[in-house]
Amino acid sequence: MSTDTASNPIAAQDPEVWRWMEAEQQRQASTLELIASENHVSPAVMQAVGSNLTNKYAEGYPGRRYYGGCENYDHVEDIARDRAKELFGCQFANVQPHSGASANAAVFFALLQPGDTFASLVLSDGGHLSHGMKINFSGKYFHPVHYPLKYDRSQDGYEQIDYDAMRAVCLEAKPKMILCGYSAYPRVIDFAKFRAVADECGALLMADIAHIAGLVAGGVHPSPFPHAHIVTTTTHKTLRGPRGGMIMCNDEEIAKKIDKAVFPGLQGGPLMHVIAGKAVCYGEALKPEFKQYARQIVDNAKALAAALVGRNYRLVSGGTDNHLMLVDLQQKDAELTGADAESWLESAGIITNKNGIPKDPRPPVQTSGLRLGAAALTTRGFKQSQMVQVADFIDRVLSAKGDEKVCATVRGEVADLCAQFPLPH
Ligand SMILES: *Cc1c(COP(=O)(O)O)cnc(C)c1O
Repeated sequence: MSTDTASNPIAAQDPEVWRWMEAEQQRQASTLELIASENHVSPAVMQAVGSNLTNKYAEGYPGRRYYGGCENYDHVEDIARDRAKELFGCQFANVQPHSGASANAAVFFALLQPGDTFASLVLSDGGHLSHGMKINFSGKYFHPVHYPLKYDRSQDGYEQIDYDAMRAVCLEAKPKMILCGYSAYPRVIDFAKFRAVADECGALLMADIAHIAGLVAGGVHPSPFPHAHIVTTTTHKTLRGPRGGMIMCNDEEIAKKIDKAVFPGLQGGPLMHVIAGKAVCYGEALKPEFKQYARQIVDNAKALAAALVGRNYRLVSGGTDNHLMLVDLQQKDAELTGADAESWLESAGIITNKNGIPKDPRPPVQTSGLRLGAAALTTRGFKQSQMVQVADFIDRVLSAKGDEKVCATVRGEVADLCAQFPLPH
């Protein structure tokens, strides 16, 4: 990026902030991004998010705003909503939630009463904090019951959702809503099975596809529609848009309640520059190239998974069907924690996050697992052969227990590989 005054006002006006923005550009360019919830957006999405649309108050919805001067914004939001509906095959979309967690909050406040029971996955097994953690609104004002994974190694589907147990938990607790969709679950979700149980116990089904939205849009993960009554998502993970949230459904009554819960229930003015970024992102995701991108994410994740298994790492549930995998580090090295692995890999230019595994014997600040995702590397143009190289880097660093010389050597090779695969520009 240039630093002259005309083309770079931040550098000229505020070098104190610019310094770190430039360092961040360098960091993203020269490291491998394996955090499963992150991605690199296109220059077009970036431009929308950094645009003059940040100047306006547009409280309300298209055609029903509380401020004058909103006509252009109405068009932008209409485009975003129409594209979202086309992309996910549904009838109603609210594109205003500031984030995934606030999208989920809006659904809870729209469709449940405080104290109502809902069902979600045992949180330590891959759920999200907004699915019933005690210190989150969802656990504080609502009553979560949890369904498990299969914890018996001898069973088929070990460490995958136990649909029979899910049914039993729901029939017993009679939740008003059942949540599916997770933050660290590497397998396909059977939305139809969830819907059958929801119907059986008179519950609504909510699918939170924050992680897999891009895979759903690209047709490589089954769609939650028509099974889910409500679908929430983030827009910045595999969907590769700006940081934000969205809520979709096919029922007009539910849609009205959700619109009210988002505004004026929870939020004031929508982030219209971000909504423009969502519109641009959905336009990209509607193109045929995005289907290829989504397919390549899954192929790349499978290649990375196979290469790690080949180097004696155990993966939770034995593999992956989507963009992410959870490495159980215990098999490779009983002493190795997720926290150590994360920090050693970072010093080699490989960015990951420690993550609890099912029945993790270690506390959340340590963990025995490492979560890896393929979406960001796939955006850079990585194919299966580069993913095998990435597995090799990871194994060298972890096998050497973070030895400084080994990390420095790998850091150099990582930088070389990154230079061959520049960020979107
Ligand atoms: C990431 C995520 C969210 C929350 O997204 P934020 O934008 O960080 O609030 C919600 N649900 C699931 C399942 C997620 O993985």
